Amino acid sequence: MLRTLSIIKPDAVEKNVIGKILSRFEENNLKIVACKMVHLTEDRAKKFYMVHKERPFYMDLIKFMTSGPILVSVLEGDDAVAKNRKIMGATDFKKADSGTIRKDFATSIEKNAVHGSDSLDNAKIEIDFFFKNNEIFKR
Ligand code: ADP
Ligand code: MG
Repeated sequence: MLRTLSIIKPDAVEKNVIGKILSRFEENNLKIVACKMVHLTEDRAKKFYMVHKERPFYMDLIKFMTSGPILVSVLEGDDAVAKNRKIMGATDFKKADSGTIRKDFATSIEKNAVHGSDSLDNAKIEIDFFFKNNEIFKR
C-alpha cells in the first residue's frame, strides 16, 4: 500500500470540479486518507516548487498556484504514485490520453487542473509538506 500527494489546482477549484476529480481517484481504487483546502502564500508555493526555480515558467507557476485555494489530498492504494500519474495524464493536456483528468479539465500546459507526486521519495516529502502525521487516516 503506497501513498501519494494530489493537489487540485486553483483553475479546477474555480471551475467547480473538485467532486468530479476526487471521483476519478475513488473510481480507480485510490482512497482519500487526508484532505484539506489551502490557499498557498508566495513563500510556501516557492518552496513547494523549488525544483523548478530555474525554469522559465517558475514565477508564472507561483502566481497561478497562489491565485486561489487548492485542495490537497493524500491518496492511498496499490502503486498510488504511478497510478495517480496515469489517471492525471500528461503535463501538456494536448498530449494527455483521453479519459485522463488533464484531458478533461485542463485549459493550458500551466492550468492543468492537478498535481501529483512523481516518485515515492517526493510523495513522502510532499505529504509532509502539507500534513501532520495525525491528520492522515490510518486503518
Ligand atoms: P507535472 O505537474 O506533470 O509533474 P512538471 O513538474 O514538469 O509537470 O511542472 C510542474 C507544473 O508547472 C506543471 O504541472 C504545470 O502547471 C507547470 N508547467 C510545466 N511546464 C510548463 C510550461 N512549459 N509552461 C508553463 N507552465 C508549465
Ligand atoms: Mg512535477
